Amino acid sequence: MNDSLPREQLAPAETVFGIGEPGDSAYVIESGRVEILAGPAQDRIAVLCAGDLFGEVALLDQQPRTATVRTLEPTTLVRIERSHVNELLKRSDPVIRHLMTLLLERFRSTHSGHVLAADAPHVALDQVEALRTLTLTRDLSFALDNEQLELFYQPLVGFAEHNLVGFEALVRWRHPTLGMIMPMEFIGLAEKTGLVHRLGIWVLDHAIDAWAQLRLLCQPSTDLPPFVSVNLSAAELGDPKIVDTIRHALERKGMLPQELKIELTETVIIEDRATVGEVLEKLSALGIAIALDDFGTGYAGLDYLKSLPISCLKIDKTFVQEMATSLRSHEIVQSSINLAWSIGLSTIAEGVEDEDTARRLNDLGCNIAQGYYFARPMPASAVAAWLKQAQAEGRLRS
Ligand code: C2E
Ligand code: CA
Ligand code: CA
Repeated sequence: MNDSLPREQLAPAETVFGIGEPGDSAYVIESGRVEILAGPAQDRIAVLCAGDLFGEVALLDQQPRTATVRTLEPTTLVRIERSHVNELLKRSDPVIRHLMTLLLERFRSTHSGHVLAADAPHVALDQVEALRTLTLTRDLSFALDNEQLELFYQPLVGFAEHNLVGFEALVRWRHPTLGMIMPMEFIGLAEKTGLVHRLGIWVLDHAIDAWAQLRLLCQPSTDLPPFVSVNLSAAELGDPKIVDTIRHALERKGMLPQELKIELTETVIIEDRATVGEVLEKLSALGIAIALDDFGTGYAGLDYLKSLPISCLKIDKTFVQEMATSLRSHEIVQSSINLAWSIGLSTIAEGVEDEDTARRLNDLGCNIAQGYYFARPMPASAVAAWLKQAQAEGRLRS
């Protein structure tokens, strides 16, 4: 039982709650016993003891209590509040949330004749979200087989020379009825269903294919050789077979490993430190660079920077976007760049949305910019036209 949940000590024959009272908590009996009284004559319908739970329906709706609960001896109760459960539910899968609501509705209608209004706003919203999640989960495998996924490329620009150094490959899903779906919505589903392995191979193959053309548009400098970045999630990097998959994909297309960068987040490292460490060592030995994504948002500490072959920090966009308005964010960005520099890592700042932020980052010594100020992610076919325009406008070197 969670130690932070409040406890209540009750004497014998005390009422925990009475029939018809509003309720906002369930209770677990830590020690002692209680009786449950229900019906017009308040008949005893059960006696509960240590470890038992009661009053749980109040966790999901705000209907009055349907029974009275009274202690039979000195009793300690652990109280679970509805607000606490709501917080947990908010973070859970919408399908689970919706199923809970449906089950509650059924329980209420059989036990008290009361039916939860099906058009209550939260029910309707949960239902829409749950149906969408179910639809996307059902369709994702088909999407992978039927070329509904698309890879977009977001340009990466060297600060010092305003040159196009490379791209981050970002996946999108053009769903036939739901329209364009962003990765934040379906990568998690792909991870849960195991499809992320196939998705990862799809992304890798397409990024390597497109690189043959994209590479020709890059304006590398001696400090910044050209590269394309792909994101790999925990499930992918926790599978040792990924090393051979990547190696074969590179060999098939004759792409240099030095021109591929793998982006991973701290969460990936924490999930399976030993396997991920081994996989990263092997990828690094092939010549593939490893970047740590969303730097500054994790909780992992910094020791992995010395033990893992990471060569680049990507400073999270939440800090970059606030640099001009928050001294604290500015300091975090500055310290991240200094830290990277002192241990020989390069830096990419994500979320560069305006000229002022670009100037500040350049002054701090950041190496590469990524953000809407330079370009949004775009299909490979749009890059040449974008480059021409950015050069004409003076945002990129000619
Ligand atoms: P991420 O790796 O942090 O990617 C950067 C995200 O920031 C992208 O969102 C990009 O469009 C967005 N972004 C870039 N510049 C700016 C800016 O100036 N302002 C703002 N507001 N946003 C900016 P996107 O494409 O929606 O991707 C979201 C996340 O989905 C990625 O976050 C990455 O974690 C994941 N993802 C994308 N593609 C893949 C993939 O192929 N495989 C895996 N495993 N994950 C992927
Ligand atoms: Ca990324
Ligand atoms: Ca990121």
